[in-house]
Amino acid sequence: MAFDNIIGQEKCVKFLTDAWKKDRLAHAILISGPSGSGKEFLALEMAKLLNCPEEESGACGSCSSCRRISSLEHPNVQFVYPLPGGKSRSDSKNKPADPLYGLSEEVLESIQIELTKKAENPYHRIEIPKAKFIRIDSIRHLRENAYLKSAEPGKKVIILSMAEMMNDEAANSFLKLLEEPPSDTFIFLTTSKPNSLIPTIRSRCQEIKLKGLTDEQVAEKLVSFGKPAEEAKSIAKIVEGDISKALKLSKEGEIEERSAIADELVAAIRSGLASDIVSMNRKLMELSLEGKEKLADIFQIALRLILGGGVTDVSRITGTRIAAQFDKAIDLVGRNIYIPMIFSALVFESRMLLKLNGNEGERR
Ligand SMILES: [Zn+2]
Repeated sequence: MAFDNIIGQEKCVKFLTDAWKKDRLAHAILISGPSGSGKEFLALEMAKLLNCPEEESGACGSCSSCRRISSLEHPNVQFVYPLPGGKSRSDSKNKPADPLYGLSEEVLESIQIELTKKAENPYHRIEIPKAKFIRIDSIRHLRENAYLKSAEPGKKVIILSMAEMMNDEAANSFLKLLEEPPSDTFIFLTTSKPNSLIPTIRSRCQEIKLKGLTDEQVAEKLVSFGKPAEEAKSIAKIVEGDISKALKLSKEGEIEERSAIADELVAAIRSGLASDIVSMNRKLMELSLEGKEKLADIFQIALRLILGGGVTDVSRITGTRIAAQFDKAIDLVGRNIYIPMIFSALVFESRMLLKLNGNEGERR
């Protein structure tokens, strides 16, 4: 059955399915909630419910309609997500909008790969390199097709993923769709940043708020994918309820690599040796080229190690203060501050809070 594999969110699922049973489902629904809480998954399951011919009481999850929605191939369901910028085709007159117009072969290939991953796992987060915003052509394309008759029975469904990534032009165009909603069409917007949506869009939607998942829920899901329980637990600890991130980290070797570097990072804090700090800085700089997210993960793991007594016993108050220093460091990494400056300050503050005296490096 549809909805069976959504983790948690029972209240929201019940609210939406009840509304559907009573024929009172809102035509525009904003699904908000933290990253990796299953917003797009919920929208896809709703699309199944609105199109499944097999079941009276809910979507079966296994008929041709349900399966094609899972694989993002159902003609009634349009799934929109941020893409890299490029020339807009609808700038030239009388040509239909093409969301993929002007994108390089490389980008088109990565879109294909990402959509395949999404089809395999609805918790997969689509990440296309250099995707900056939802393209105006994607919205124009939606509008051009919204008022056409659907090719198949069932309801038309629009899923706008990361809706906060519409720029003003796209948002205004989308607003027109909300103002003149096409009949038999349901629109689901998903966002982890509802406050970044323009108020005129937000006010036209019914908002459903998903909760972040617990560490236990994330670990349980990882175990169901075949991860050993201990490893599942340690991944769950660092993702803060983000199942999409947990799945990414649970790929072969990802968590091991981060954990190994986090160990070294903690060792550098413990020793306070200038040579350790310099070599750690070099490593962090190199890693930052692979993405800030990776560095943030490493800091998170290191913090867990320290709070767990990896350097010395930590009282609750000291723990809170150290956590605040790490949060600050993670925030600064995201803001492109010079990494050696961030890390050196972190070592200094952490050593002070942990009452590690002296600097072995200088004593030599
Ligand atoms: Zn079905």
